[in-house]
Amino acid sequence: MSKKYILVTGGAGFIGSNFVSLAIDSTDLTIVNLDKLTYAGNLATVEQFANNDRQIFVKGDIGDRQLIDKLLAQYQPQAIVNFAAETHVDRSIDGPASFIETNINGTFNLLECARQYWRELADAARSEFRFLHISTDEVFGSLGPNDPAFTELTPYTPNSPYSASKASSDHLVRSYFHTYGLPTLITNCSNNYGPYQFPEKLIPLMILNALAGKPLPIYGDGQNVRDWLYVRDHCSAIALVLAKGTPGETYNVGGNAERDNLWLVDRLCTILDELLPTSPHCPHKQLVEFVRDRPGHDRRYAIDFTKLNTELGWQPTEDIDSGLRRTVQWYIDNQDWCQTVTANNYQQQRLGVAA
Ligand code: NAD
Repeated sequence: MSKKYILVTGGAGFIGSNFVSLAIDSTDLTIVNLDKLTYAGNLATVEQFANNDRQIFVKGDIGDRQLIDKLLAQYQPQAIVNFAAETHVDRSIDGPASFIETNINGTFNLLECARQYWRELADAARSEFRFLHISTDEVFGSLGPNDPAFTELTPYTPNSPYSASKASSDHLVRSYFHTYGLPTLITNCSNNYGPYQFPEKLIPLMILNALAGKPLPIYGDGQNVRDWLYVRDHCSAIALVLAKGTPGETYNVGGNAERDNLWLVDRLCTILDELLPTSPHCPHKQLVEFVRDRPGHDRRYAIDFTKLNTELGWQPTEDIDSGLRRTVQWYIDNQDWCQTVTANNYQQQRLGVAA
């Protein structure tokens, strides 16, 4: 039987690599994994697939038209799943240019390549093809404490250069369905946590700082609320939307786990105290430090994923307590990975960290 391919972009990053892993485990697809290997994407992450002939790693940029055309012609993938993005809100505040370049122009390039490729496919392959764009709940802006959760109909009101660039790319993806008929899908997901997340994001940074006895910096009053989802659950939602979603639709993905930053850091400290009772840094909570708030810091995100649940039958399986415990244990066990990915180009640009 001939091999079936999908093109995954950003598969050397956090969610993309977890998705490649899930696709290898649960499908017969071969994954062409295209990643630019920015500071956030690492060969140390794709090493887990090194001996697996169902993952083909290609170093490259989603903005490179020639390369994308070549990969589409060579592998004839039945789908493109676009994870590639600049993703860290603080970095988007300090230097938005790369966010515009990758998240907007890069996605535009990928859409253009996909449109031409799809148009030239034979009928059967054309009706099967999907372009799935991975996005965030941050495009919806900030909620007050009593506001209802975001649905697929919530208007976009992005507040950071990161979320504005993701919102722009979502609009482009949507327009390619309505204008050209390209079978696009979009998922908007809440905050992910789990293995292989680059240690500038809230959860891995807190774990690694705590392990080193360094301060645990919390922005503002620590009461910013996020909905948390274990990364493997996000990946199962993506796989389901890819297989069964309706082209032109968007699907919210969430964890039913709204927590504020104070709760989250407190929980991480408790787990560390339990896993490492003889650590000289116990109780780890003593390391918490409050720092000046991030400009334009959204107060609350909450996701209503009723549509994905009722139409496609998806729901998260990992409860936040067990997911956090698994995540802490993974970072304890994989400190070599942490050191490798942060060795050369990681700078903690600000004292405070948020998700
Ligand atoms: P990440 O920063 O860990 O990974 C992004 C990957 O994209 C990296 O491997 C990077 O090298 C690659 N990349 C960046 N620019 C590229 C380019 N021009 N060409 C090719 N590759 C490029 O990010 P993540 O957390 O895994 O997020 C993946 C996607 O999911 C993003 O689109 C993000 O907006 C979205 N998302 C993330 C979360 C979250 O909590 N992390 C939640 C919802 C949605």
